Amino acid sequence: MRRLGCVFAHPDDETFATGGTLAKLAASGGRIDLFCATDGDAGKSSGVPISSRAELGGLRRKELAAAADILGITTLSTPGHGDGVLREVDPDRLIGEIVYFIRKYRPDVVLSFGPEGAPTQHRDHRAISRVATAAFFLSGRPTEYADQLREVEPHSPARLYYCAWDLPAPDAELKTLSAPVTCRVNVSAYMHRKRAAFLAHATQRQHQSRFETALTPTEGYTLASGTPQPRAVTDDLFDGL
Ligand SMILES: [Zn+2]
Repeated sequence: MRRLGCVFAHPDDETFATGGTLAKLAASGGRIDLFCATDGDAGKSSGVPISSRAELGGLRRKELAAAADILGITTLSTPGHGDGVLREVDPDRLIGEIVYFIRKYRPDVVLSFGPEGAPTQHRDHRAISRVATAAFFLSGRPTEYADQLREVEPHSPARLYYCAWDLPAPDAELKTLSAPVTCRVNVSAYMHRKRAAFLAHATQRQHQSRFETALTPTEGYTLASGTPQPRAVTDDLFDGL
């Protein structure tokens, strides 16, 4: 069975960045485990009445569970770190949590944002990229976070991929560049599922126009480390594993 471990910062990152890929993998019998570092408890709620950050965080956790059901995500790990301040969490602690996640669910492929932090360059996206990358390299070594070995065994995933995209159009709202796309997954048959997952994030409707712009028939990734791809550009994260 193909096993994918996703490491993201906010509820809805999984849908925006990778929703079609996840739905496609789930439909083919693959397993998807998601580590979502924050509950997304900062920011606006698209008119949904909210009286506190804690209430928004609780609501977004439920929205994430609904989106995960739609996309076919197998498990959710939600440590509930502060939204917007992920870089202030002790990195050794956060890396340890992701190392544990990798050792517990044993993915073949780990997927996260690149160091630029996705097109939005959100500081939490940049932070989660750094710690996910460190965890990818450390999870297989028994000398790292050795106290975990009472519960879980070391595990080295075969590949680390980052989200990537083609050059933005000159009139694009977000002009961030990514590393070159080395894997382009055709998700045309899963765009309805990706939209349904987005709509499950009801507090994020204010981003709908950006979502629709980003809703394309392919989703791109770049191989950051691990087993080389059989070709320069593939259409499957697991190709050749
Ligand atoms: Zn995000």
